[in-house]
Amino acid sequence: MDHSSVRQLLRNSQQDEAETKRRRLTLYFISYVGGTIMAFMAWLNYGGGDTLLVGSLAASAAVVYANVALSHAFPRNDTFYYIAGLIVVFTVNALVYTGGLNNTGLYFIFPLIFIQIIVVRFKPAIVYVSVTLGIAIALLFNQELIVAEYPPEHVSRFLIATLCFICVAFIGENFWHQSRKEMLKENLERMRQANTDPLTKLPNRRFLDAVFFDRAMEDPVSYFPLSAVVVDIDHFKKINDTYGHDVGDDVLIHFTQLMKECVRNTDVVARTGGEEFLILFPHATLSQAVKLAEKIRENVEANPFIQGDINHPITASFGVATALTDSNINAALKQADDKLYVAKKNGRNRVVE
Ligand code: GH3
Ligand code: MG
Ligand code: MG
Repeated sequence: MDHSSVRQLLRNSQQDEAETKRRRLTLYFISYVGGTIMAFMAWLNYGGGDTLLVGSLAASAAVVYANVALSHAFPRNDTFYYIAGLIVVFTVNALVYTGGLNNTGLYFIFPLIFIQIIVVRFKPAIVYVSVTLGIAIALLFNQELIVAEYPPEHVSRFLIATLCFICVAFIGENFWHQSRKEMLKENLERMRQANTDPLTKLPNRRFLDAVFFDRAMEDPVSYFPLSAVVVDIDHFKKINDTYGHDVGDDVLIHFTQLMKECVRNTDVVARTGGEEFLILFPHATLSQAVKLAEKIRENVEANPFIQGDINHPITASFGVATALTDSNINAALKQADDKLYVAKKNGRNRVVE
């Protein structure tokens, strides 16, 4: 797995919860309050003879409730937010058109527009708000086409106030999104550092536990069977003792390179301890993983560590096991560890399944 794939996984695991909650709560608020008001108005007007009004209010309430119910059922789907934004376009202009009670409909437009900005988010909101207001302005300047009657000074005051309000709302939104973006970027960098081994630049144990296994649980079809290979360099202590710790470090980097050459971009090579590594092969059977481990073992054996006068052969031992489902991960890791122990006991430089 290269750095950009690791970064992508980290980014996915980093959730912008505050923004998600803000949007979700705004959607729920406008849907339940707005839907209830519409249903109530339909009930008030029921029997008054205006079947069209009652019908459209009742239908609007039904659409609002259905939309919010679907967003509860599919919380990750953005479509319902955009539908809510469209409902606001219609509601605002229905208010402008009918004037509401005694031509007071314009007062409700301010909160509705702010809600629209939050639910459809900054850039799409520019389009939504422009369309909403464009239609409203066309209606306000062609009052012969609409039911409501607004005195000209109300129209101009309303438009000036609305434009000021929209500018301030967008300025506020812009800074909110910008500061969140910067915060998330810093956070991502901190996460990257916390999940990476500084010497080999490989993901570490924490990355596996906090990110990779979670991802696998979310998408079991793409990850299972998940094969695990525990790798431990043979007699590594001797390298340190003979050439010093710095050379030992270079051997770890060299060894990392040899492992990475043999795996696919979807496989993860992680450093889990001093000279111990864990390779995870998503969607690989035990026999496939054994073949890959054997390939790595041969690559390591064929490429001694060469630096200046040093030419030191390197070998490693491998324990392989497979988790068929997400409930088997820990058992498989334990089993791979046990197999590594067997490989060491049986003479090292071998793969044991
Ligand atoms: P075996 O074949 O049984 O695995 O023997 P070994 O010598 O490889 O295993 P042992 O566990 O006895 O020694 C591991 C050594 O790895 C001990 C430790 O000092 C060294 N080590 C751990 N982390 C690092 C590191 O980051 N850099 C270097 N240079 N050495 C390290
Ligand atoms: Mg060792
Ligand atoms: Mg060891």
